[in-house]
Amino acid sequence: MAYKITEECIACGACKPECKNGAIKAGETYYGEIIYIINPDRCTECAGWFKSPRCAGVCPVFCCVPDSDHKETRKALLNKWQKLHPGKEPVEQPD
Ligand code: SF4
Repeated sequence: MAYKITEECIACGACKPECKNGAIKAGETYYGEIIYIINPDRCTECAGWFKSPRCAGVCPVFCCVPDSDHKETRKALLNKWQKLHPGKEPVEQPD
């Protein structure tokens, strides 16, 4: 399941450099606030890199959460990872 960033985001930017899939960027909500957003097409829940989501681990306000609208099996997440990183093998590193 991809992760998402909720409206509690304070736009500190701590999450963005943690994402090795390049899934996080600053975006604008419908009411004009800037918060960070996650592209579900690039989020693998960190499968392929780490055992648990890095963005959730660094967020000071705990606003990186599983996105129930994007449920995926671990196999699907790893397939997504391989499409994002052609020619590489997944590396599950300890947290
Ligand atoms: Fe990136 Fe991992 Fe967060 Fe998904 S869970 S946005 S892959 S850091």
